Amino acid sequence: EEPARGPRKKTVVAVVGGGLVGSLNACFFAKRGFDVEVFEIREDIRQAKIVRGRSINLALSHRGRQALKHVGMEEKVVSQGIPMNARMIHSISGKQSPIPYGKKGQYILSVDRANLNKELLTAAEAYPNTKLNFDHKLQDWSAETGQMTFVRLDGSKEHIKADLIVGCDGAFSAVRKQFLRRSRFNYSQTYIPHGYMELTMLPINGEFAMKPNYLHIWPRNTFMMIALPNLDKTFTCTLFMPFDDFEKITTEDEVIKFFQEYFPDTIPLIGVDTLKRDYFRLPAQAMVSVKCSPHHINDKCVLMGDAAHAVVPFYGQGMNAGFEDCIVFDEIMNQFNEDLSAVLPEYSRVRVPDDHAIADLAMYNYIEMRAHVNSKWFLFRKQVDSILHFFMPKTIIPLYTMVTFTRTRYHKAVERWQWQNKVINHGLLISATGAAVGSAYLLIKNPPNINKLIIPAEKMWNRIVAFRTS
Ligand code: FAD
Repeated sequence: EEPARGPRKKTVVAVVGGGLVGSLNACFFAKRGFDVEVFEIREDIRQAKIVRGRSINLALSHRGRQALKHVGMEEKVVSQGIPMNARMIHSISGKQSPIPYGKKGQYILSVDRANLNKELLTAAEAYPNTKLNFDHKLQDWSAETGQMTFVRLDGSKEHIKADLIVGCDGAFSAVRKQFLRRSRFNYSQTYIPHGYMELTMLPINGEFAMKPNYLHIWPRNTFMMIALPNLDKTFTCTLFMPFDDFEKITTEDEVIKFFQEYFPDTIPLIGVDTLKRDYFRLPAQAMVSVKCSPHHINDKCVLMGDAAHAVVPFYGQGMNAGFEDCIVFDEIMNQFNEDLSAVLPEYSRVRVPDDHAIADLAMYNYIEMRAHVNSKWFLFRKQVDSILHFFMPKTIIPLYTMVTFTRTRYHKAVERWQWQNKVINHGLLISATGAAVGSAYLLIKNPPNINKLIIPAEKMWNRIVAFRTS
């Protein structure tokens, strides 16, 4: 007997958070034909005058681009970004030295966060099966029934049910709170001692104040400043510094003194008055690293983006990792034929090790960017890595390349990096030992004629004496 035919009940997916990852994820679920509802606490940023976010611009790289490509957004976003081919290291004396990110033609893109978010919201809204709900703050939800409670600005409450709840509500996720009440949920959160402050460098005579196709870095060991270009020819400079140091600077004169000591080349570019004003405009912001596992509850709820893995911003991977979450989930949906009871546990199994790995790598880069880039050994090793990569592109791949320009799983990239480091360091040790033993052998086999050394030395001495007495 044929089963009764009728319209198949559509799965309702509630995406909580209409930030970068939430709005992109809405496109992924809409593309599959689900009924998608996005719930965002803020007003519609496309109509708002001031958009508050976590940083003005950010670096988009391969993983993020692949996810955008999946929903047909890559070209549009890339055309609105500024390629950065290399880091530009600024020394205290003002000397600038570029360190390329990868091979020729490889670059990361500086994109405007607010603009990217607006584009993604518009793309999500273009699907007839997607509805965006602004001014909806998730207060609580039930893992048993899938019922969510939202609070509106006017104080009213709404109760809405969904088959799947996707928590994309950022580092301080309200969706995640429900996970914390459950047994066998692992959670850790670490605030680093550094805060960040953004300063704007305006164009000079209508042009970028510095070379635009670089991510500028002023590494000063315990703190640093970076600058990324914007389409309006400004740069957004971000000062990362321990809160204790931020707090020591309390007057306008102290700001200028501090910049004169550590970032003298930026004073004429940012401007004394702007510096004095902007430094005190907003307090330094905190940075948190969050790790948790699993990322799901039964077949009801899954966390993605910063809600699952807030990372410190030093690898430029937070958003990229969040965007990649969407592809990984999508791939598993294909693999398990959209059976959520199988997809969600598999997603946690596959993704947790990678999200933990990028959180660790970002912490590692926190030191590399502000301190290691000042070390000769580090720069030498970077050179060795790129030379070896040039000759053996499949065997030796620099860590930064794997993370930024490939979709190698983050935890595999870390494993491979550790293996490569062992091999290269052994190789360098063997070469250095070989060179020393070889020179010693040659010296023993062919002892230099001592007279040949003494005569020129005698001649040299005579010349010095002649010079001093002349
Ligand atoms: P968010 O962007 O935080 O969005 C969460 C959304 O959820 C927001 O719109 C929020 O309003 C909403 N929300 C929150 N609570 C609720 C609630 N209760 N109910 C409803 N809605 C809610 N990443 C990179 O890849 N490259 C970079 O160069 C880079 N630079 C960075 C620089 C800085 C200084 C910082 C702080 C971060 C940087 N990141 C970067 C990381 C990146 O900003 C985040 O990884 C990214 O924003 C994560 O997106 P998300 O959508 O998961 O979270």
